[in-house]
Amino acid sequence: PRLSGVTKAETTCNYCAVGCRFDLYGKDGEVLGVRPADEDATPANDFSTCVKGKFGYDFVNSPNRLTTPLIREGDEFREATWEEALDKVYEGLSKIREETGDDAIAVTSSSKCTNEENFLAQKFARQVLHTKHVDNCARLCHSSTVAGLQQTLGYGAMSNRINEDIGKTDCYLITGSNTTGSHPVLATRIKQNVDDGADLFVFDPRKIGLAEHATQYTQTKPGEDIAWINGMVRYIIENDLHDEAFIEERTKHFDELKEKVQPFTPEKVEELAGVPPEELTNAAETIAEADTCIFGWAMGMTQHAHGTRNVIALTNLALVTGNLGKPRAGVSPFRGQNNVQGGGGDMGPAPHTLPGYQDLSDDDVLDKFEDAWGVRPPDEIGLRLPEQYEAITEGHIKGMFIMGENPVLSEPDIREAENAIEELDFLVVQDIFLTETAEFADVVLPAASNAEKSGTFTNTERRVQRVRPAVEPPGEARTDSDILADLAGRFGFDWDYDGPVDVMDEINDLVPIYGGVTYDRLESTPEGLQWPCEDEDDPGTPFLYEDEFNFDDGKARFVPADYGGPVELPDEEYPLMLTSGRVLYHWHTGTMTRRVEVLMDHVPESFVTIHPEMADRLGVKDGEYVRVTSRRGDIVTKANVEETSDPGVVFIPMHFAHGAINELTQHALDPTSYIPEYKVTSVRIEPL
Ligand code: SF4
Repeated sequence: PRLSGVTKAETTCNYCAVGCRFDLYGKDGEVLGVRPADEDATPANDFSTCVKGKFGYDFVNSPNRLTTPLIREGDEFREATWEEALDKVYEGLSKIREETGDDAIAVTSSSKCTNEENFLAQKFARQVLHTKHVDNCARLCHSSTVAGLQQTLGYGAMSNRINEDIGKTDCYLITGSNTTGSHPVLATRIKQNVDDGADLFVFDPRKIGLAEHATQYTQTKPGEDIAWINGMVRYIIENDLHDEAFIEERTKHFDELKEKVQPFTPEKVEELAGVPPEELTNAAETIAEADTCIFGWAMGMTQHAHGTRNVIALTNLALVTGNLGKPRAGVSPFRGQNNVQGGGGDMGPAPHTLPGYQDLSDDDVLDKFEDAWGVRPPDEIGLRLPEQYEAITEGHIKGMFIMGENPVLSEPDIREAENAIEELDFLVVQDIFLTETAEFADVVLPAASNAEKSGTFTNTERRVQRVRPAVEPPGEARTDSDILADLAGRFGFDWDYDGPVDVMDEINDLVPIYGGVTYDRLESTPEGLQWPCEDEDDPGTPFLYEDEFNFDDGKARFVPADYGGPVELPDEEYPLMLTSGRVLYHWHTGTMTRRVEVLMDHVPESFVTIHPEMADRLGVKDGEYVRVTSRRGDIVTKANVEETSDPGVVFIPMHFAHGAINELTQHALDPTSYIPEYKVTSVRIEPL
């Protein structure tokens, strides 16, 4: 039934993975506003939300929401009933399976959706369609984080808490994260602690907002992070500043690390990364001598063809200084989307791992899923997201089911991604808007937004929190879970779930790290539960590795990070280095924030930030439109003349369809995580 009167839902923000909690008010299908939750009920935001959390919910009320299924007829869509649309999906996907095989279909799930929906999306792929190709948008943001941390520490996640550890540490090294823009409430915590005396070192190619508060800001060359991080590790070891007792007792392979970092003298680091020796050594000394240090990063570290090695190098630094397994210290990947930790990672919508990071090649694990599902999940590793688009052009993938993602803007080199999508025999997009990707679909299924559904998100500190509906979905839109369950039924699978609580029951049974995360407990624990939480008596794990690392022998591994630099370097034709990122007022491909007036008022369109000296040289004035060209394509965007980086480095945000940066970026992939090299692209800029 429609909700009557004003409704208050205690829920979790659907933007970034800080996971602020608030009350969302709604009436007659319309979201009215947001009020931050009470102090004692909030893990991350006991003072406020950021501008997106507070004013970013108008998209729910947008007149452009999808309200009915759509079926393509020629170049147009026509409205359809659910019966027609689901039949059409069944027919389209079945035809491909019969003609080409199960693995001719790929499923994409979304970190925007709840844990329960992501669990069901990978189940839909593995049980119902029996394809090995299932992946999600975490591939494009923090897959290098997960790969790097799993190799060194065991768990692919933040080791510590936000408030008690990040908010109270003695020292920070923040790199590759525009924290004030991307994780504003987290940045406020850091700034408050710095005001109270903590040291803050920011290493970044751009003088980002947090740099204004830093003990030391060091400008680095884009893509050269392994050099300066290895240089710091070398300096610390050479000067006996390392934590010998911790290394001896809790780690392996220190000697290999020691040898591998030898070439990274301060002089070599300056040559490669542009870091002055005194800044390198000052930071290294302060970090090594601090009682506790937090190492924070985001996509500036991960989105490189050597992103996994960047993360490994940083983890080596944390280990060498003994900053793991204790409060107020740790490795802190700042995850981007609301539920990228849970939905994108923990729930297993990935081609190389089952839910809970369980091994695809482990027969006991496969037996367990087979017993529960009546179907053995495919045990081969499927294609990662960027590989899937290559496989379409090679004729191996012919159908796609995309839930809540917009690859036509988010894939690197989007002209190629667009061409690939056009070649598909059958495309289904399930979303809340007719996104740039949905425009190419054969069937579009209208989904409920996060303000209209029940479930859980897991924030960047592994904290599982409740999501609750404030309003009903518009028109005939339905929750992703309900749509997937009906589709499973079409294929002969009876998904008899009475809501997300039943899905969580199944997750409790099949995913050990979520074994004790029940809805009953979450009802009485508004601050959520942090995994691993293995059974009903387990209080959860505020910080990881107190007693042992997540390996059989309990020891962390030093994995030497071999040097890797940018794939493209500037040359005569493309003399500038382009890097990318977020702005405070927008989020990802902008499908939601570009529909919020108050956010669009602040940043209405794409822009390129150019250093004043370079702007002079190019003959470009602030506010003029320019053409930016790379080896892949060109865009027209507005010049924003500002001194935030070296004159040879320019910046474009990732949020816009017009002036889309991914017309320019390249497809070079990290060999371990398969993340694309989004962060460094050679370009030229010309006035129009
Ligand atoms: Fe939402 Fe992140 Fe802002 Fe908190 S900091 S309100 S989680 S966008």
